Amino acid sequence: MRSLPSIIHLDMDAFFAAVEQAAKPSLRGKPVIVGGLGGRGVVSTASYEARKFGVHSAMPMAQARRLCPNAAFLSGRFEAYRQVSDTVMGLLRELSPLVQPLSLDEAFVDLEAGPYGPALAEADHETGERLVLALAEDLRADIQRRTGLTGSVGAAGSKLMAKIASEQAKPDGLVMIEPGQERDVLGPMPVRALPGIGPATEQVLRRAGLNTVADLAETGESELVQLLGRAHGAGVYQMSIGLDDRPVVADQDAKSVSVEDTFEVDLADRERVLREVEVLAARCVRRLRAAGRSGRTVVLKVRRFDFSTLTRSETLRGPTDDDAVIIETARRLAAQVDITGGVRLLGVGVAQLADYTQEDLFAQALREEAAEHAETEAEEAEEEPEAAGPRRWMPGQDVHHAELGPGWVQGSGVGRVTVRFETPWSGPGRIRTFAVDDRALEPARPLPLRGDAGPEEAGA
Ligand SMILES: [Mg+2]
Repeated sequence: MRSLPSIIHLDMDAFFAAVEQAAKPSLRGKPVIVGGLGGRGVVSTASYEARKFGVHSAMPMAQARRLCPNAAFLSGRFEAYRQVSDTVMGLLRELSPLVQPLSLDEAFVDLEAGPYGPALAEADHETGERLVLALAEDLRADIQRRTGLTGSVGAAGSKLMAKIASEQAKPDGLVMIEPGQERDVLGPMPVRALPGIGPATEQVLRRAGLNTVADLAETGESELVQLLGRAHGAGVYQMSIGLDDRPVVADQDAKSVSVEDTFEVDLADRERVLREVEVLAARCVRRLRAAGRSGRTVVLKVRRFDFSTLTRSETLRGPTDDDAVIIETARRLAAQVDITGGVRLLGVGVAQLADYTQEDLFAQALREEAAEHAETEAEEAEEEPEAAGPRRWMPGQDVHHAELGPGWVQGSGVGRVTVRFETPWSGPGRIRTFAVDDRALEPARPLPLRGDAGPEEAGA
């Protein structure tokens, strides 16, 4: 265990909703809810204004609409969130090469492995703690300056305690838990505060009369091993007494995960090829999940009867480990390959891996996209292929109008689309309504928030 609180955990505050409020001046100070807007959608992030109405992440969207009908309901802009995330992660990497992202807006940083490591190693206790606090406050100020957003930071001697500290710091705060204080801080917390204790384990513990972390620590290791099994019970006991020596782990080595299969007889039938691709994609997803990873690029490899090999790939908008999305993408790639003469080998891989499993929001949107693709293909097969469907405008989407400039879609329906014309640096903008197929209106890329893509920041 460390004697200095040199592990920090950063967690951006209401991240997706905060990015939306920064990008859309008319939404600042108002309830904003980002998530799946379809029938079975769930809330991904609610702004603090929406949380006052009881809305929280993972809540069914229908319930959120009942609780807070006047909120802005947005479908999420992956590219915008990734841009801001890149800026934030870049600031963390200035503090240490050991940065472990848990999601787009959350990461552990090991300060001892970075440029301040030697100073921390030499410092007496009090000086060391002051240095950690100063670095954390500088980080929060840098994030605010570069993105306009707030993040909360926890500093402690372990990942367990750093994460608990950042929760206590929310929103827009900094909390340090001094090494030695672990048991005092953890004791009164409910057992669910510990990682690895989900609803099922909580039930088991509750039936045994164990409700707080202090209860776990007092009941002892052997009792917990009896209740939860050897590995889990021992791990939970260690955590309950504040012992956590899990290291901060930076980007893992693997760059891709793939599986392939060679066939005894060359496959010449398209349906058979597609079925095999589905099986391979499903295996690939299992392997990806087993490694606790997700990825953005789906790769299909085809070796033909003459041993010529070709690969086709498609890059998704965000990393995923969703089997429906990966299978559908692999099928789509396979449907485009010339298989005349037969196929000897097929492979499916996922590359551009991320260290974290997918945010709910990305999975939902990618799943909807995959379903749409599948529908479109089925329709095209039956109907005349040149018939393009009506343009789809998603709430929150960035657009550009030939005369009125940049704006975002506030809503659409019955052949109309409503756009609010404003930018991150304008005041609240005005609303105009157009026909959904108005040629002057185009989908657009997200505009940068403040300096996060600004060249003037590069040398600063
Ligand atoms: Mg967060």
